[in-house]
Parts: sequence; C-alpha cells; structure tokens
Amino acid sequence: MQTSLAGFIRDTPEGREAEAILRKCVHCGFCTATCPTYQLLGDDLDSPRGRIYLVKRALEGAPVSDRTRLHLDRCLTCRACETTCPSGVRYGRLVDIGREVVESRTRRGAWDRLRRAVLSFALPRTALFSAALRLGQLAGLAPGTRRGSAWPAPRHSRKMLALRGCVQPALAPSINAAAARVLDRIGVTLLEAPGAGCCGGLRFHLNRHDAGRADMRALIDAWWPLTANAEMEAIVVTASGCGVTVKEYAHLLSNDPGYRGKAERVSELTRDLCEVIRPEDLPAGSNRGRVAFHSPCTLQHGQQLRGRVEALLSRVGYELAPVRDAHLCCGSAGTYSLLQPGLAGELRARKLAALEEGAPAVIATANIGCLVHLQAPTATPVRHWIELIDAALA
Ligand code: SF4
Ligand code: SF4
Repeated sequence: MQTSLAGFIRDTPEGREAEAILRKCVHCGFCTATCPTYQLLGDDLDSPRGRIYLVKRALEGAPVSDRTRLHLDRCLTCRACETTCPSGVRYGRLVDIGREVVESRTRRGAWDRLRRAVLSFALPRTALFSAALRLGQLAGLAPGTRRGSAWPAPRHSRKMLALRGCVQPALAPSINAAAARVLDRIGVTLLEAPGAGCCGGLRFHLNRHDAGRADMRALIDAWWPLTANAEMEAIVVTASGCGVTVKEYAHLLSNDPGYRGKAERVSELTRDLCEVIRPEDLPAGSNRGRVAFHSPCTLQHGQQLRGRVEALLSRVGYELAPVRDAHLCCGSAGTYSLLQPGLAGELRARKLAALEEGAPAVIATANIGCLVHLQAPTATPVRHWIELIDAALA
C-alpha cells in the first residue's frame, strides 16, 4: 500500500514503523474472515482492512473524528487478523500507533474520560483493586477470590521467576501457587520478586503509552536484581495477556537508552507457563474428565503458541472436547469487556455456546481476564489450565 505520512510523524520511530507495516498490506481482505467485530457488525470500518485504512489516513494527516476513534475502540486487539494475514502485516503495532495519534487529536466525552481514568488508576494497583473487589464481593457484585494454597519452599537449583501481576493476585492467587507446585514437582523452584506488579499492558492499551511504559520500567527495576544473573532460567508468566506484553518490552522500550538493554534481557527470558513444562515432564494419566480449552488470543495469536496446553492436559489424563471457532476472541480483551460491554457480551455468549457444545465438565483457559469474563454467566467451572494439572498430580 502506497503511503505518504504527514510531517508530524514521518521521521519518528513510530512513523517509520507504521510506514513499514502499511507498505506490507496489499488490501486483499483475507483478514476480514477471522475478525470478530466484522463478523458481528458487518461494517468494513470494523474490520482489520478498514481500520488499517483509517490509521493510514490519520497518519497522512487527514481529519479524524469521534467515528474514527469508535472504530478503533471497537477493535479487541485480538490479533486474529495477524494470524490470518498472508503478507505478515503486524496489525497490533499499527493500531497501537494509530490509536495514540487519534486519541491525541480527538476529545472523549466526560463519562468516557472518567471511566478510563478510574480503570487506569485502580487496576494496576493491587491493594486498591483488592479493596474495591472486597467491597464488590460484599455487595454481591464481584466474583469471589480463589484463595492461594501452599507455595512450596525453595529447594531446587533450577530457578524461575514468576510475574505476580496486578489483578491476578487479588482475584486468583491460586494460579501462581498451582504453577509453583507443578514446577516444584518437575525440579524447578518458582520465585516471585517483591514489588513486581503490573506489566504495563493495561495502561498501554488504554492509550496511555507513557504511563504503560512507566509500569514496564518499574517492573524491570523490581526484577533486575534477580534477572541480571545467569542463575535465573526464565521469567514465567501465567497470564498470557501479560506474557505477550513482557515479550514485547524489547521493542516497546527500544528507544529508551536507559532501559533498552534490560528490556531485551527481560523479553529474552520471558516464557508463557506452557513453554516451560513439557508433556514428558508429567506423569501420564487417564480418566480425569472432559475439558474444553479456551485458548486466549494473547496465547494463540499474540504469542503464536498453539496446541501446547492441550498436549499437557491430555498427558495427565483429561479428555479434550472439540471447540468450534477456537480462533475467535471471547470478548474479554483487557478492559474491553468493561468499555464495550455490548460487543463483549455477544462474543462471550457465542464463545460459551461453542465451548459448552462438547459437554465439558470444566472449561480451562490461560489468562485471568478470560477466566473471570467467561465464568460470570455460566455454571460450568472455568479454571486456569495449571490448576487442572495441579489437581491431577496431587
Ligand atoms: S492486513 Fe493482510 S490480510 Fe488484511 S488486507 Fe492487509 S494484506 Fe490482506
Ligand atoms: S485485532 Fe481482532 S478485532 Fe481488531 S481488527 Fe484484528 S481481528 Fe479484528
């Protein structure tokens, strides 16, 4: 696609990156077939191809409006379009750049500004989020906390560092504890670094790129005493939404001379939990019941990891139910379910129908956001896959 970027962005790192991405798009439209919002709304401007056109026009200096921003807001950043695109267009990076430009050249209504400011302030602060969650639980409005259980004492020479995160310790400390127990059984000590909180993805995807990058630097600082030495084998992330962000630190902080090197080291060390456990590490089992696995977009599209969790669940004896349209987003998408509740609710209804078609006893997933979003309207238990592995090994 021919582009002629406007002077305000042409010679910036973002401008050069956007131009290289735009040049790859041949406008073929293959990506529209797997775009959840295009499937729901049928408007080309709610498809990847349409949004690429909107971003191109914005970067070329054309006027932007609230409608431009709305079409970009409706995008889940699920990146199913990246998996489908035959030309390798990195849509996720392009839409990040485009959103920042459109955000700076339009003005949201007072209510929208307020709710985004509250989310940006409260969600990354675990203590504040925990207090708000407790109030919500007392009022019967929020999901219960899944209590953490015993974390094994360090005893192995192999060591990995876990991301604690921001909302997960409040909603489900049980997940990292289960990961620590399973890794302990296969000879790895899992540690958490004090003060290591939000990965920065939440604020970054609310178009607060500076605040998001500040969270990334703070996390690197908290980890650095433990990751600078060669003893730490990996940084393990149990929430695929956070994992995809930390893996991109090297790129997102590449223009920051103070953090570039550290960000490269952190990204290089980062693995999703399913990358550090091999099926042969686990004892073979059978008759554990039927599971439908919902692979989060951040796992299958963002990190391009497919089939690994399913292989681990099968190994310990779970039977996998077939899942129709497994490539489609459940509608959670970070803060999307709060900011676009109508579209998110419709996507969730479709996803749950597909997951429950195979009559599973339990639904498994790999990201806290998807887990809480899917659990809300269904009686079928929704668990992190590591909790199922942990239960099978117990
Ligand atoms: S993003 Fe890829 S699939 Fe979509 S229109 Fe462009 S080249 Fe085609
Ligand atoms: S990221 Fe997802 S919702 Fe956004 S354009 Fe691509 S496929 Fe559609």
